[in-house]
Amino acid sequence: MTTALPVGVPTQLFVDGAWTDAAGSKTFPVFDPASGAVLAEIADASAEDAIRALDAAVAAQESWAATAPRARGEILRRAFDLLQERAEEFALVMTLEMGKPLPEARGEVVYGGEFLRWFSEEAVRISGRYGLNPEGTGRMIVTQHPVGPCFFITPWNFPLAMATRKIAPALAAGCTVVVKPAELTPLTTLLFARLLEDAGLPPGVVNVVTTTRSADVSAPVIADRRLRKLSFTGSTPVGKRLIAQAAEGVLRVSMELGGNAPFVVFDDADLDKAVDGAMAAKFRNIGQACTAANRFLVHETVADEFARRVAERVAAMRVGAGTDDGVQIGPLIDDKAVVKTGELVQDAVGRGARVLTGGSPIDGPGTFFAPTVLAGVASGSALLREEIFGPVLAITTFRDEDEAVRLANDTEYGLVSYVYTRDLARGHRMIDRLETGMMGLNAGVVSNAAAPFGGVKQSGMGREGGLEGIQEYLSTKYTLIPAD
Ligand code: NAD
Repeated sequence: MTTALPVGVPTQLFVDGAWTDAAGSKTFPVFDPASGAVLAEIADASAEDAIRALDAAVAAQESWAATAPRARGEILRRAFDLLQERAEEFALVMTLEMGKPLPEARGEVVYGGEFLRWFSEEAVRISGRYGLNPEGTGRMIVTQHPVGPCFFITPWNFPLAMATRKIAPALAAGCTVVVKPAELTPLTTLLFARLLEDAGLPPGVVNVVTTTRSADVSAPVIADRRLRKLSFTGSTPVGKRLIAQAAEGVLRVSMELGGNAPFVVFDDADLDKAVDGAMAAKFRNIGQACTAANRFLVHETVADEFARRVAERVAAMRVGAGTDDGVQIGPLIDDKAVVKTGELVQDAVGRGARVLTGGSPIDGPGTFFAPTVLAGVASGSALLREEIFGPVLAITTFRDEDEAVRLANDTEYGLVSYVYTRDLARGHRMIDRLETGMMGLNAGVVSNAAAPFGGVKQSGMGREGGLEGIQEYLSTKYTLIPAD
């Protein structure tokens, strides 16, 4: 049975505080990946619409920057409160357009909402420095100022949290924004724009343009000299293209890109905890998370036992529409994702991997792939190099700590790593040796609004959340005042 979209989800562009059609009244359909049904027809913006949105953000910038930090924080706090009231509506819309099980969508409402609360509290803590210069001939004042109008491009896998993680710190810092959500999951962002409007956000401070022509619509915004900052979450290849475009205007950029997380299980690990952590790190969001564990590196003496236990758990997982009770694995986002996941599994199997459970797509309707465990994955398999972005847990083995570190770091990505060990000294060595921006030490989920989220190497630059998150939207100015 297909579940209908809640009544009243916006379907138009949100520009300068008004809901408007796209130029030429163009629209495009948004689908439910669990059934293939069309959920809504929404505005398909042109480049001209996007520039109109930037015009509004530019016009609102000065007064928003001059709005008292406390007042900015209070609007964010109201947004947080409204999100709690509307949690079920947001969760349902996310499950319908993206596919994740409803309990996970509720979890995203909590996580996404925490950025509103965290940055509502940070808005009043923007500060600077004041002091004598070393020569004693002048006073040095260091102040922080909003960067200016920002452009945000967000992905489909966490439709709410990827938006709030950018919008909340930007608003707290005094920046105005244009957001372009992913074309596969635009409804949640539109619903969130409605919520910001209800929270009392002035017109033009946040603008949302939905479009199927992402590249054509984004390029002129990025090229516009009035824009000051680009923040992108998505794949590394698109991120590289956007960095090149941003270079032209020497824009500030933040990039939250792909991952290829190692999940390292040492022979001294608590295997019960490692199995629990593995289930969360791999199967949350149907395996479609940048933080998803991609390579399970397990010490050779415990690998069989680890594989047996995870395979038992995975074989018992319930697959179905995210709106159905008890479902743990929803559909993948689209047909392409099913095909790609199948190819990665076939490649690994062709190189000798054993399928312990799952291994293939599930017949439609909907775009489902059976949750899968592969053991004995050979080096050279494509899924050790690429993000799987599907419910496939791939196990390889190592002999000693040095080999574990070498294998874990053998990737161009560096977003997050997971390490299971009972040895405290080894845990600390792993913090130093693993080349990632984040680590779960005996933990399978690390995300927290109070912590700096982000990667090294080709996983990106910049941090979202934590004390660091607001810095991405502030620029530092130094002023010298001579003493006499
Ligand atoms: P994607 O790169 O295909 O798309 C991301 C966004 O960019 C979408 O809004 C899309 O419409 C837009 N886009 C695509 N091509 C563009 C272009 N040429 N110009 C301008 N915009 C363009 O990624 P996706 O498939 O939506 O998301 C999955 C990817 O995102 C994975 O690689 C995942 O690891 C990554 N991701 C990273 C993080 C993080 O915080 N590091 C979080 C979530 C997802």
